[in-house]
Amino acid sequence: MATIDRKYIVVGGGVAGGYAAREFVKLGLQPGELTIFSKEAAAPYERPALSKAYMFPEAAARLPGFHVCVGSGGERQLPDWYAEKGIELKLESEIVKADLENKTLTTDKGDVYSYGTLVIATGSTFLNLADFKTAGADAKGIYYLREVHEADKLVDAIKANKGGEAVVVGGGYIGLELAACLTINKIKVTMVFPDPCFMPRLFTPELASFYEGYYENKGVNIIKGTSVTAFEKDDNGHVSKVILKDGRTLDSTLVVVGVGAKPLLGPFKGLLEEEKGGIKVDASFKTSDPNVYAVGDIATFPMKMYGDTRRVEHVDHARKSAMQAVQAIKAAEKGEVVDEYDYLPFFYSRSFDLSWQFYGDNVGETVHWGREAGTPDSKFGAYWVKDNRVMGAFLEGGSPDENKLIAKVAREQPSVNSTQDLVSAGLGFASKV
Ligand code: FAD
Ligand code: NDP
Repeated sequence: MATIDRKYIVVGGGVAGGYAAREFVKLGLQPGELTIFSKEAAAPYERPALSKAYMFPEAAARLPGFHVCVGSGGERQLPDWYAEKGIELKLESEIVKADLENKTLTTDKGDVYSYGTLVIATGSTFLNLADFKTAGADAKGIYYLREVHEADKLVDAIKANKGGEAVVVGGGYIGLELAACLTINKIKVTMVFPDPCFMPRLFTPELASFYEGYYENKGVNIIKGTSVTAFEKDDNGHVSKVILKDGRTLDSTLVVVGVGAKPLLGPFKGLLEEEKGGIKVDASFKTSDPNVYAVGDIATFPMKMYGDTRRVEHVDHARKSAMQAVQAIKAAEKGEVVDEYDYLPFFYSRSFDLSWQFYGDNVGETVHWGREAGTPDSKFGAYWVKDNRVMGAFLEGGSPDENKLIAKVAREQPSVNSTQDLVSAGLGFASKV
């Protein structure tokens, strides 16, 4: 079979793949130069919608409504957009083999493509409870969420279980967002996770306590400090009971799991330098092979602000890293270089009527402000202070302008004389930076 030649190939048609396509077009792309491969059947879309508006009982988000790049206020790239720009978008097409020496890729259909420059944007995959050797993890009625086809299955299960009960395993992003979605669909939720509180890698016990109280007021039952050891199945192989390590048993025919993700190296595993589970890249997202770039969840990149290397599994970085890599590729063709990637970490979540944002690094001492007793609607937040500098900032319920203020704090790392000043000034501190 003849090899199909392309100047550029992107493997992965998720968030980073879609934003890479836009950047190639912006910087000048000839028809036929770029092919994007995606395992998924849908053109690149804004994945965050899946654990939020996609699950709403009314006015739910559906494709084609949230194809990239609407999540950052950009043009919505429907499949026709790719065709109009002369981009070959190969959906339901998985790259199963990579030969970096000969610069070729093989698809699951046996087609062989060669590239001048390759961008790997294969993202992450969810951890399965079978990975933790949880007995009965293959039972029907246990749902995970990464891609839109999984979201569709969960939507059907939610409809079938209206008025019923569900167990949500995991107290991280997926656990919190989906527990809220199930609740607003009138399903009684019990959350189970081993941590002492919600999202302990970011939340302090004080922050977590607010969110846990809010969820409990919405009727969510929270079981902390234990994990699931087994699922019992009925005669049809459907989950019927969830067995916990602390000896408790929960009756449930619907289980939703969010116990973390891992980078999806797939056919690239072992072919490039790796670090922290991802593909090691420089500040322009170039890998150890000068013809290969890696972006999004998969990339372990230099975090200029903090002088270390990190992998970030969040959408803002997926978008920005894709743009940076394409800018670097185009610059290199002209013998130029781009400025180093200088990323300010940005995480956010929305559930029920809540909406928080965090910027920076959650290191050092945490200073909480706001939410005085008796003022349930007041804003609140936190600053992280290390060596007298504010390193990170968190805000619940901020307006777009207020969120920009805390981003500026995290970027500029202003010095503070006394943490008590931060407590009393609250958001006012950010407005003066
Ligand atoms: P992905 O978007 O995962 O795209 C990777 C693509 O590559 C997928 O389509 C995959 O099928 C494809 N692929 C993989 N291997 C191959 C192969 N061998 N051949 C062909 N195709 C392949 N982050 C936030 O900051 N805020 C949020 O609110 C938020 N919500 C989220 C909600 C959900 C349900 C999930 C799962 C994630 C959420 N995230 C959120 C994280 C964010 O979506 C990811 O960080 C982002 O999608 C990463 O982009 P990516 O392009 O690296 O990977
Ligand atoms: P997270 O890493 O956010 O959370 C996983 C949670 O599950 C952690 O609290 C973890 O505890 C806990 N856990 C681990 N093992 C078990 C177990 N055996 N039983 C019960 N709980 C367990 O991953 P998610 O699954 O929530 O999210 C998957 C991916 O999707 C991530 O990349 C995330 O960034 C992304 N995402 C991001 C969103 C956002 O940014 N708003 C929204 C939705 C998804 P411990 O901390 O102790 O390991």
